[in-house]
Amino acid sequence: MSYPLELGVATRAVAKACELCRQVQANLVTEETVAKKDKSPVTVADFGVQALVTAELTREFPDIPMVGEEDAAYLRSEEGADLRNKVVEHVTKYDNTLTPETTLAAIDYGTRPGGPTGKFWVLDPIDGTKGFLRGDQYAIALGLIVDGQVVLGVLGCPNLPINADDPTGPKGALFTAAIDSTTTMISLANGSTSTVSVTDIADCSKATFCESVEKAHTQQSDSAKIADLLGVTAPPFRIDSQCKYAAIARGDSSIYLRMPTRKDYEERIWDHAAGWIVVTQAGGTVTDINGKPLDFSLGQTLKENSGVVATNGKLHSQVIHAIAQALA
Ligand code: AMP
Ligand code: MG
Repeated sequence: MSYPLELGVATRAVAKACELCRQVQANLVTEETVAKKDKSPVTVADFGVQALVTAELTREFPDIPMVGEEDAAYLRSEEGADLRNKVVEHVTKYDNTLTPETTLAAIDYGTRPGGPTGKFWVLDPIDGTKGFLRGDQYAIALGLIVDGQVVLGVLGCPNLPINADDPTGPKGALFTAAIDSTTTMISLANGSTSTVSVTDIADCSKATFCESVEKAHTQQSDSAKIADLLGVTAPPFRIDSQCKYAAIARGDSSIYLRMPTRKDYEERIWDHAAGWIVVTQAGGTVTDINGKPLDFSLGQTLKENSGVVATNGKLHSQVIHAIAQALA
């Protein structure tokens, strides 16, 4: 397997981050914060994860830069003092070597631009913030990009049922993948590991598809048209975050549609890098809605792509064809 050292450290870092998120979701997301639409719990977890994961990665790999979603400018400001204290309080529970200053420095380390050459980490500390605040699904998504190619990914899904057929059973899974190996699911409940793979459905009418819960993130009316054209009869499986990629990788669903809501939206690399490799190494295919490979080499966004489609591979060309028909 390629990148075994990096994969080991990345897995450890994301596992720790999952614990932090679970604690924040359990203690800070309350009826009051939900009613007030108060986003501070997710902000604590967002900054906390970026600090924890970056600190862990840079200790082992001081020369690999990080492209993360957050920076510490607000936390360094006077009005950010309360939030800063909360973030530091939470991260030091999981890494007692961190201080207020090294916590902020770790967050700020994650503000690199990405690009076509060299090696860099890409991190979405909390993907699916809306899901996090609803008490639903969210993910911690970490990828490693080398010369524009995603070579490794770890997807932490703290709330995902280990077994999709047992939604009230044990929850929490990590999905790990590297470029020339299979995708592994690690249970956060008992540490057990299993190789996962996509469905082998070749008939679209037997497939289910997944998409975002949030209408602002995907054109659900387009997906409905595409599903119709494909003869998909099952209702859409709506789930927040890159947990959708995990659902494809382990065969809960066979098609993931992310249909652009507007022409000028550029997908962020941290929203797709980990998910891309988790699906491809499980036997699936990921492209944009025109069937074009995702290009992670162009900076922080997939500026040459439009939307995203992930499938079990067997269904891919049929899905791309139906998209073209639906949008014609
Ligand atoms: P999801 O949980 O799959 O709905 O995706 C969450 C991600 O959607 C966030 O991390 C955002 O970066 C991203 N996002 C925000 N606005 C848009 C948009 N207009 N189209 C697609 N994705 C978006
Ligand atoms: Mg995100």
